[in-house]
Amino acid sequence: MKNEIPYKIYLSESELPNAWYNVRADMKNKPAPLLNPGTGKPVTFDDLAHVFCDELVKQELDNDTAFIEIPEEIRNFYKMYRPSPLVRAYCLEEKLQTPAKIYYKFEGNNTSGSHKLNSAIAQAYYAKKQGLKGVTTETGAGQWGTALSMACAYFGLDCKVFMVKVSYEQKPFRREVMRTYGASVTPSPSDSTEVGRKMLAEFPGTGGSLGCAISEAVEAAVTHEGYRYVLGSVLNQVLLHQSVIGLESKAAMDKYGIKPDIIIGCAGGGSNLGGLISPFMGEKLRGEADYRIIAVEPASCPSFTRGRFAYDFCDTGKVCPLAKMYTLGSGFMPSPIHAGGLRYHGMSGILSQLYDDGYMEARSVTQTDVFEAAEQFARCEGILPAPESSHAIRAAIDEALKCRETGEEKTIFFGLTGTGYFDMKAYEQYNNGTMTDYIPTDADLEKGFAGLPKIG
Ligand SMILES: *Cc1c(COP(=O)(O)O)cnc(C)c1O
Repeated sequence: MKNEIPYKIYLSESELPNAWYNVRADMKNKPAPLLNPGTGKPVTFDDLAHVFCDELVKQELDNDTAFIEIPEEIRNFYKMYRPSPLVRAYCLEEKLQTPAKIYYKFEGNNTSGSHKLNSAIAQAYYAKKQGLKGVTTETGAGQWGTALSMACAYFGLDCKVFMVKVSYEQKPFRREVMRTYGASVTPSPSDSTEVGRKMLAEFPGTGGSLGCAISEAVEAAVTHEGYRYVLGSVLNQVLLHQSVIGLESKAAMDKYGIKPDIIIGCAGGGSNLGGLISPFMGEKLRGEADYRIIAVEPASCPSFTRGRFAYDFCDTGKVCPLAKMYTLGSGFMPSPIHAGGLRYHGMSGILSQLYDDGYMEARSVTQTDVFEAAEQFARCEGILPAPESSHAIRAAIDEALKCRETGEEKTIFFGLTGTGYFDMKAYEQYNNGTMTDYIPTDADLEKGFAGLPKIG
């Protein structure tokens, strides 16, 4: 190869991070506090502790500690599938005839197929340490439920997953992976919770939504002795755990003297992007270095690019704390696109604040353009990417093509969050030419904004 940079840069076990990095410690404008939906006041430890595990509540509320040690049990689990490779996309560069250097961090090398395992194992660990019997959660596309069921199996915890009904029916294989790892999987809305029964009475035959499944999972946690609720994205604690992605990337890059000019990630609830960028963002916040950081979201669910920065409900049943975030409104119904992991109406409070303060950019891309990039990537880099991840691929390719025009040798770095083996229905539609693009009108978005709570 023309260059001394290897195709894959791996860290050794001894170089793995010992602590997660909490980017909030370096933010001057901290993310706005979560509010108790009953009182409208900032949530306290006690408000959250009957829903979430104690240690995770502490992490959620900690805006000041920069480094939080990764417990040895979690580090040992990480060693089964980490470090994840940092790959130089030599073949893609060649195909694009670009002078840009392209790197990606690949998080799909575990059975759950995505980065979500990084936080699932941490959350399961703290539940176990607290002596709980089990945890409840929701899953949309199924990746989070899969990751959590793997983590719970490892620590011998019970795992109750509420799976959005359309996915439950359309993705039977995801469901069976979860059951193989010992989780119980209930289609949502279900008649096992009050909120689910209400939903079924009001909208018989509904395919469900992520917001409703969250409400059911929270209710199941608070009504079962020895259970807590866990969530796979959006929350500060999840971004904290995902910082392992960015820390490994930074360490590997430093080893070879690589400095990215542009850092790109897909954004659903913001956890992989938040984790990927965290150490780089830390340098930016402290004035030590500068990077262009780009969040990529679907044009059909454009929270950053067309949403409002406001307090909103995190779930349909309005039982969760209110969060200040870029949001389309908890009543926004995104069209059924294939990147199920990017369909949430809101965005991480940390990323929302950083975006509002001008530390990062955002852009939206349409579904067919995303699959075109996915296919191009699969054909030269070998990996079959998840539709969610392919949003980042689209933007990375677009930036590399700009470099071809200008002749600039930029270094482009993106997060490849997972594999797409369970998304072959989507690939089938793309291959058959029947995939469509849906972009909500301003009037569609107004309906979602109308449901925002009046606060402040
Ligand atoms: C869940 C998921 C995402 C989006 O979630 P974030 O919290 O925004 O990272 C992206 N890629 C894959 C493969 C996912 O499973």
